[in-house]
Amino acid sequence: MRKIVIAGNWKMFKTQVESKEFLQGFLPCLEETAQDREVVLCVPFTDLSVLSKNLHGSRVNLGAQNIHWEEEGAYTGEISGPMLKETGVRYVIVGHSERRQHFGETDATVNLRLKAAQKYGLTPILCVGETKQQRDLGETEALIVSQLEKDLVGVDQENLVIAYEPIWAIGTGDTCEATEANRVIGLIRSQLNNPKTPIQYGGSVKPGNVDDIMAQPEIDGALVGGASLDPKSFARIVNYE
Ligand code: 13P
Repeated sequence: MRKIVIAGNWKMFKTQVESKEFLQGFLPCLEETAQDREVVLCVPFTDLSVLSKNLHGSRVNLGAQNIHWEEEGAYTGEISGPMLKETGVRYVIVGHSERRQHFGETDATVNLRLKAAQKYGLTPILCVGETKQQRDLGETEALIVSQLEKDLVGVDQENLVIAYEPIWAIGTGDTCEATEANRVIGLIRSQLNNPKTPIQYGGSVKPGNVDDIMAQPEIDGALVGGASLDPKSFARIVNYE
């Protein structure tokens, strides 16, 4: 049995006050959540301490959205593994397409960040996925194989989550068909040396499509952007049927 991991990615949303308000609406909805589901909230750095305190004793795991590969140093604007670990972080998103597109993240730096996360005892959530243009040109498979090959050099696949996030489906409402997501995730699995690595789907996951997505045999969870900002919507996703 592979682990199910449902993670929210808040991106650059929510102040500390707003994050506390979210928890008030969200945590009570988890009483009936199946025990075998891992629930994660990947939040802005400024929200980490507040959430760490307020999640204590709950079943929600704390996640961050980036990690630098050095333990410390002159890297303005970056954050290190020990800093995240001390704040109670367990998961960290690495290589999200928004970081690859807007902040110059490359497969080489993704690889360094993945290894750093594992070195400091965090579980990285590696994001891979194609643009609309790459899909239209029939390059999806080759791109994903290439990303995995480069990103995973020297990475322990026992302590890893992968998210398949087709870029054209992110924030667009244009979800990838569940069966197509299942097919690509099957391809990702065929490239791994650990059959147990959980592989999520991400891209416009909503209360209305999560049941379909999670019914697919290859899909082990979801990485949720917009719909994770609303406590009731994210609770419905976590409590998918
Ligand atoms: P949306 O759910 O808003 O499409 O975002 C997906 C995503 O990028 C999660 O990392």
